[in-house]
Amino acid sequence: MPEEREYRTEAIVIRKTKLGEADSIITFFTPHRGRIQGFAKSLRKPKSKLAGHLELLTYSQVSFARGRNIDTITGAQTIDAFLPLRNNLWLSSCGLYVAELVYHFTPEGQENFTLFRLTLDTLRRLCRGEDTEVSLRFFELHLAEGAGYRPELDTCVNCRSALAETTNFFSPQAGGMLCPSCRQMQPTGFPVSPAAQGIMRHLQRAEYPAIPATGIDPESLHEVEKISGAYLKYLLEKDVRSAAWLEMLKKSLG
Ligand SMILES: [Zn+2]
Repeated sequence: MPEEREYRTEAIVIRKTKLGEADSIITFFTPHRGRIQGFAKSLRKPKSKLAGHLELLTYSQVSFARGRNIDTITGAQTIDAFLPLRNNLWLSSCGLYVAELVYHFTPEGQENFTLFRLTLDTLRRLCRGEDTEVSLRFFELHLAEGAGYRPELDTCVNCRSALAETTNFFSPQAGGMLCPSCRQMQPTGFPVSPAAQGIMRHLQRAEYPAIPATGIDPESLHEVEKISGAYLKYLLEKDVRSAAWLEMLKKSLG
């Protein structure tokens, strides 16, 4: 079947790169084409009609014309600008963190509808001002799972025994929890309190609406943040730039 010369898709803008005087390369995450790129001619000129519809973290209907090296963006219409994210430094930073992780965890041109839904739902939750820490932890765990790296949280990844209600150890290298006796043989991994293990298992299993927005102990949630951050960093083999920024911002906002 010949490839179509033009096509349209819903798309979330997850990255923008300047090109030359006034052009841009835009990276999108789409429901059925995965992560794709488009060339936006003269996007940075003041009279550009497309610019407003192709802002970072905008959900738009976008038209493309096939090109030899890169497809050209021929039209764009905003579906959701996620406005609450634009006027709030913390929320916009959370949104950019989500976009950066999606960029790094998705191969080009490979459909992953589950991850698309997760991304869209997470940005909407941030807009509704739901507990951002819970939203981000839920996103991180399900992002890893959607990318094929579901962490094992119920049984020891080494001896396969069920984990006791005690401090167990999360090993990014092993992709899950180690029981105390296996940890002695393999001294990797972070100690995880029973409370934090409970939160992680709940976030992994439950549909988002079933997760209470309040009542989760902030200290245990912070523990989960450190563990899931270390896991993502290990999987990516590098630091997530916006994660360091979020951490700094959190300290300065108190
Ligand atoms: Zn074990």
